[in-house]
Amino acid sequence: MDDRERSTALREAASRQIQRARAETLRLISSLARQWDELVASTDLSNADDEHDPEGATIAFERARLSGSLARARTDLEALDRAVIRLEAGDYWFCERCGQPIAPARLDARPAARTCITCAT
Ligand SMILES: [Zn+2]
Repeated sequence: MDDRERSTALREAASRQIQRARAETLRLISSLARQWDELVASTDLSNADDEHDPEGATIAFERARLSGSLARARTDLEALDRAVIRLEAGDYWFCERCGQPIAPARLDARPAARTCITCAT
């Protein structure tokens, strides 16, 4: 395997990893969106807006939890879309902040990572 073949293999492996993470994130978003719809539907039926009502407080908590999870999942999805572009441009392997290579283990664990571990902490 020459250098060009090796870099192509690396890029393809990274691309598969990003696509896998993207598919997982999309599944998560659709599951959260479904939970959100169910919650909204049940809230409409019971009309439990009163925060002093224990059920209303539970629903408010559940709403906050779901909307937080949804926002995080959508941010992840955007980061993965950027990772695809970065991969095509050849920037994927390098920290956006300091330009040093990002440890392969870090990219394996977090395909959407844009910074090296030093800059992330
Ligand atoms: Zn860095």
